[in-house]
Amino acid sequence: MSSMEVRTRFAPSPTGYMHLGNLRTALYTYLYARRNHGKFILRIEDTDQEREVPGAVELIYTSLKTAGLTHDEGPDVGGPCGPYVQSERKKMYMPYAKQLIESGHAYYCFCTKERLDEARAEAEKKGETFKYDKHCLHLSKEEIQQKLDAGVPYVIRQNVPTTGKAGFDDVIYGHVEVDCDTLDDNVLIKADGLPTYNFANVIDDHTMGITHVMRGNEYLSSAPKYNLLYEAFGWKPPVYVHLTPVMANAQRKLSKRKGDPSFEDLLNQGYLTEAIINYMVLLGWSPRGEREFFTLKELEEVFDLEGLSKSPSIFDTVKLNWFNAEYIRKLSPEEFLEKATPWLEKALDPKKFDFARLGQLLQARTEVFNQIPGMVDFLAEMPEYELDLYVNKKQKSTLESAKAALAFVKPVLEGIDSWTEEDLHDVVMAAIPESGMKNGQVLWPMRIAISGRMSTPGGAFEIACLLGKEETIRRIEEAEKRIQN
Ligand code: GLU
Repeated sequence: MSSMEVRTRFAPSPTGYMHLGNLRTALYTYLYARRNHGKFILRIEDTDQEREVPGAVELIYTSLKTAGLTHDEGPDVGGPCGPYVQSERKKMYMPYAKQLIESGHAYYCFCTKERLDEARAEAEKKGETFKYDKHCLHLSKEEIQQKLDAGVPYVIRQNVPTTGKAGFDDVIYGHVEVDCDTLDDNVLIKADGLPTYNFANVIDDHTMGITHVMRGNEYLSSAPKYNLLYEAFGWKPPVYVHLTPVMANAQRKLSKRKGDPSFEDLLNQGYLTEAIINYMVLLGWSPRGEREFFTLKELEEVFDLEGLSKSPSIFDTVKLNWFNAEYIRKLSPEEFLEKATPWLEKALDPKKFDFARLGQLLQARTEVFNQIPGMVDFLAEMPEYELDLYVNKKQKSTLESAKAALAFVKPVLEGIDSWTEEDLHDVVMAAIPESGMKNGQVLWPMRIAISGRMSTPGGAFEIACLLGKEETIRRIEEAEKRIQN
């Protein structure tokens, strides 16, 4: 670790999913390290886990891998500051707590649960927020030793000054400070000897040589206390970058529990990783200039802290879909087909339909892959539809003209032997003038009759070709019967 090296970390708790806000934090953290030729570190913060979520840590690895955010150090790749999982660092924290006790910045607290509960209830009655009254700070050295020798359970608390201010400088929020007397003497080491989340976080950041802490602004209120710890140890605090939140709307943050998607959800819905990354990076960061499309590699060259937003960002599915559609357009036809195939298979039997042709027809009109089954399922089975669909002003189509058009086109189709798009097109187009109808008057009802849909991938000929001759004629006959009645 050279002293000038930028070292950033992503410190997720294993919750079982990758929240989009966390993905964005990881992305910014990664990009900042890359831009500055530093190190990006992954640390798993699992001290406060009530219960272990099976597979949750694995999911963090796979999510980061999918996103392309390769870490230089972490539980699975090792590094000089390991272990990188908090629960494996258990023994590392107590010596630091003891060091603070020595210097007077922390103290043993032997208060019983009963005493604390009482004090808490009292505070509540008075409408105050509970603050520990420093009762045990005033124990004598001898009293403390006696209790320790007798095995009285204890916690170790931070000795927050009662006067003055605790503050820090944040890249986004500027100088943040609070009056020390508003801060509680938080527990650093719990009765079971394990660190609290807040303490472990500070010790880990320092012992891992983290130079820049980027995280959600929900940690803004804890940071003054964290900073007091840095001061107590005489350590140089990291550069703090508290990111403004990703909101679902003007009222609330994006939340998996409220049904907002996680990174995995978006991938499962058929969003492209590149599109998600591109959209997420701009959700809270602006590049210099008008450019909107960036690969991860390009972002590694241009990402900076100056572009970070000072206000919350609203997650906008419409904009994300737009990005995704743009990225879908950029796929080669082969790539598109490969990605579209599992979605086509949800609706269609690959033995019965020409997926390659469907791929060509769908690429320009697909925003998200999960739209595909709904765009093609009419091919497998003729859907219900309203007769109103035949009525179209622009095509000069009425129910009457549609009836005539189907009666006209059916024998024309029956006469076509080589059922190709080209022949369908050439024969039908050549025949239409004999009918005395306009092209649209024939083609509109033909397409409705065989698809039951207002909009379809491809026109009447493409759909007829996909369906095959027999099915096309059958659908037209069915449609004639429906219009008749
Ligand atoms: N473990 C915290 C979380 O998942 C991250 C806190 C931090 O980055 O300091 O929200």
